Amino acid sequence: MTKRVFNFNPGPAVLPLEVLEKAQSELLDFKGTGMSVMEISHRSKEFEAVIQTAEADLRELLGIPANYKIMFLQGGASLQFAMLPMNLRAAGASADYIVTGTWSKTAIKEAQKLGTARAAANTEKEGFNCLPEKLDLDPKATYLHFTSNETIHGVEFTDEPVAPAGVPLVCDTSSDFISRPVDISKYALIYAGAQKNAGPAGVTVVIARDDMLERTPANLPVMLDYKALAASGSLHNTPPAFAIYMVGLVFQWAKKLGGLAEIQKTNRKKADAIYNAIDQSGGFYRGHAMPEARSVMNIPFRLPSEELEDTFAKEAKKNDLIGLKGHRSVGGIRASIYNAMTVEGAEALVQFMKEFQKKNG
Ligand code: PMP
Repeated sequence: MTKRVFNFNPGPAVLPLEVLEKAQSELLDFKGTGMSVMEISHRSKEFEAVIQTAEADLRELLGIPANYKIMFLQGGASLQFAMLPMNLRAAGASADYIVTGTWSKTAIKEAQKLGTARAAANTEKEGFNCLPEKLDLDPKATYLHFTSNETIHGVEFTDEPVAPAGVPLVCDTSSDFISRPVDISKYALIYAGAQKNAGPAGVTVVIARDDMLERTPANLPVMLDYKALAASGSLHNTPPAFAIYMVGLVFQWAKKLGGLAEIQKTNRKKADAIYNAIDQSGGFYRGHAMPEARSVMNIPFRLPSEELEDTFAKEAKKNDLIGLKGHRSVGGIRASIYNAMTVEGAEALVQFMKEFQKKNG
């Protein structure tokens, strides 16, 4: 039998077994073509069906209104840090950023290389362990950007921040994409690298309201131009065909589970089990994020010493609990429990935490 572990990696991350098996079954002969998806033309009718179905399924899952375009792009969420101001911010205009962790800090830095971007809040002084208490919003901002889930610090917004009237809301949702229902109509644009909740690395999903596409300046290189990329149906050039096929399979799997409300319930259950283990450990485990800012996707926590953290990660690995070492910038332990992590996996981690504390507490 093939060995599968409980994979707590932050991204690339665990994929649903069912999706991997489906891809495996279609690998050598995709829909009677005698070729894999990686070998067919991206202009073929078979691939057209792949990308159109992926788009339609995502539209249904997230309830994306007709006046939004969906793009499947390359360059990761990191390229979106640059594309966003290039497309949406007019020359001389300023954009607002809510800085709640490493990723929003990186996003604002990239935006500042190309023009003006100001922090409407910055929780770095608090060690990025909370959501901002108040926002200093520019009513003339060209957009307001936030990161719905900070993958490294484990801080997640439960509700969208409210932008001043007329200021478009933009979100990096890379690490909590399709993990819960969201009201897309509150957003002007959202983007997400696929490699956490949606599929393999190599494709980034961008969902943009039509009026945002009208902001693109005429002189942008085409590969950075939302308007042109949307108009081509993500087929201006050769797209990351296999990655798009895989996210399509993940969207179908998510629909089969009953959609995002059902997925949210399961995610909540997994997160509650782990946070309870932290809270009931009498201080042996200490969560990084303040309780009201706790992420349902990424749970960073500390142990009494770095030595114990090291031992924890190593022993967990021996028990087939993989990928628990925290990000090098914050240390400690981090459990990433994306959609495809099973309840069984979360429970196995909780069990391991309890036993580890008994032995070492
Ligand atoms: N934003 C967030 C919230 C992330 O977690 C990451 C990657 N971990 C990025 C952006 C950067 O994504 P990519 O590696 O796809 O460029």
